[in-house]
Amino acid sequence: MMNYETVCGLEVHVELSTKSKIFCGCTTEFGGEPNTHVCPVCSGMPGTLPMLNKSVVDYAIRVGLALNCDITRYNKFDRKNYFYPDLPKAYQISQLYLPICRDGKVEIETEAGKKYIGIHEIHMEEDAGKLVHDPWDDCTLIDYNRCGVPLLEIVSEPDFSSADEVIAYLEKLRDILIYLGVSDCKMQEGSMRADVNVSVKPFGSKELGTRTEMKNMNSFKAIHRAVNFETKRQIELLEEGKRVIQETRRWDENKDASFAMRSKENAQDYRYFPEPDLLPVEISDSWIRQIKENMPELPEAKRKRYVEEFSLSEYDASVITSAKELAFLFEQTTAICSKPKEVCNLIMGELMRLMSETSTLPEDLDISAEDTAKLIELVCDGKINRNTSKEVFEAMFKQKAKPEEYVKQKGLLMLDDDSLVEETIDKVINENPKSVEDYLGGKQKAFGFLVGQTMKALKGKANPQSVNRILKEKLEKL
Ligand code: ADP
Ligand code: ZN
Ligand code: MG
Repeated sequence: MMNYETVCGLEVHVELSTKSKIFCGCTTEFGGEPNTHVCPVCSGMPGTLPMLNKSVVDYAIRVGLALNCDITRYNKFDRKNYFYPDLPKAYQISQLYLPICRDGKVEIETEAGKKYIGIHEIHMEEDAGKLVHDPWDDCTLIDYNRCGVPLLEIVSEPDFSSADEVIAYLEKLRDILIYLGVSDCKMQEGSMRADVNVSVKPFGSKELGTRTEMKNMNSFKAIHRAVNFETKRQIELLEEGKRVIQETRRWDENKDASFAMRSKENAQDYRYFPEPDLLPVEISDSWIRQIKENMPELPEAKRKRYVEEFSLSEYDASVITSAKELAFLFEQTTAICSKPKEVCNLIMGELMRLMSETSTLPEDLDISAEDTAKLIELVCDGKINRNTSKEVFEAMFKQKAKPEEYVKQKGLLMLDDDSLVEETIDKVINENPKSVEDYLGGKQKAFGFLVGQTMKALKGKANPQSVNRILKEKLEKL
């Protein structure tokens, strides 16, 4: 058998989180009663005119700059004509001839090291509605709420050579888009979805093989399996002396296989032509400069900064920057209490543990930086001990408890008063003559036992340093 290489290219659709739709004032909010987020423009009534939402262009430029693209200073919209029930105008306003961004690249980590994935182009377009198949009445209903929600289509070069690289890219892209604040990238709600193109070619060959395309995939796991399945299927065809047919295939999650849907349409089928209802978009230097100046810090830059500025390890820095919400919590808490290492440990330890225990996603976190900083201060000032702080943090996480109030209410403050500690130690010494004898005979372990007994008697509220000190003094006097 010959050796083959996989080749993939992705067209990623991202729904933008602008307040209103791309060509009208309707809300972009997800869901809602069917056909309530609509107006004559986005429901395609004859005689209406689209008006471009400037924020969509802002977001597109922001993404273009973050993905190292050239911004097309003079770009235009085109009509892509096709009939489908979820597309009331019977055409989609998109960009074909002059897309807003071109020639970018994204760096990904692969097994063999760093690699660049080329971005062929990014264009702006409008989303279509949703068909809802009703099995009870055996009919199909249409919800136009999503019509006209702004989309960016990010088209990669065919630069991927494995399913792992595809996923590394999608994760990286998702991180960047979320940090840029342009999309929530919720794959389960369809705000990020990918058309996955796959072909194979003999190893080392310059010529690309015939590709197939699986449209609208919205889970990383399914995409990974689909790339591998399609690779194997195509290699088997070639080995049998057959041809791969260029077509759109459907990935069936339940059957874990892809199936032919329709043979590939191409640009000519859509009869694209320049959109006559919209003016070309002209982008000035000052517009680009203004967006550059307001670019949020991206995960990679944050990671570097955390290592340099706060002396976090590479690993800790990369875990904390893996989600925007964790990074913000880290930065804001550190800004208040100036204890980066403590904040980092709390996030990497208790917070991540509680998140996984309760299946909480970063975007659903509800922990304030003020409270977190307060808790860290309580520990560092010796007001509560580390074990207690875990209990307090859990209460903050699960019941939104306020750290100081909670500590007071539950009587968790450590004892400032040495007399109670002394009294307790006297008692422990009296009750454990064997351990005292062992300690005096040179057994260090016995000391730990006596500390433990004292802490237990004081319900863990004593300051361990005082217990150590007083116990040592008393034993030495014996
Ligand atoms: P269309 O828009 O008609 O689907 P494009 O030529 O714009 O077609 O390509 C779409 C995507 O397919 C791009 O991401 C590109 O990288 C990818 N692609 C093109 N040729 C191949 C190929 N032979 N194998 C894998 N992917 C490919
Ligand atoms: Zn509308
Ligand atoms: Mg395509």
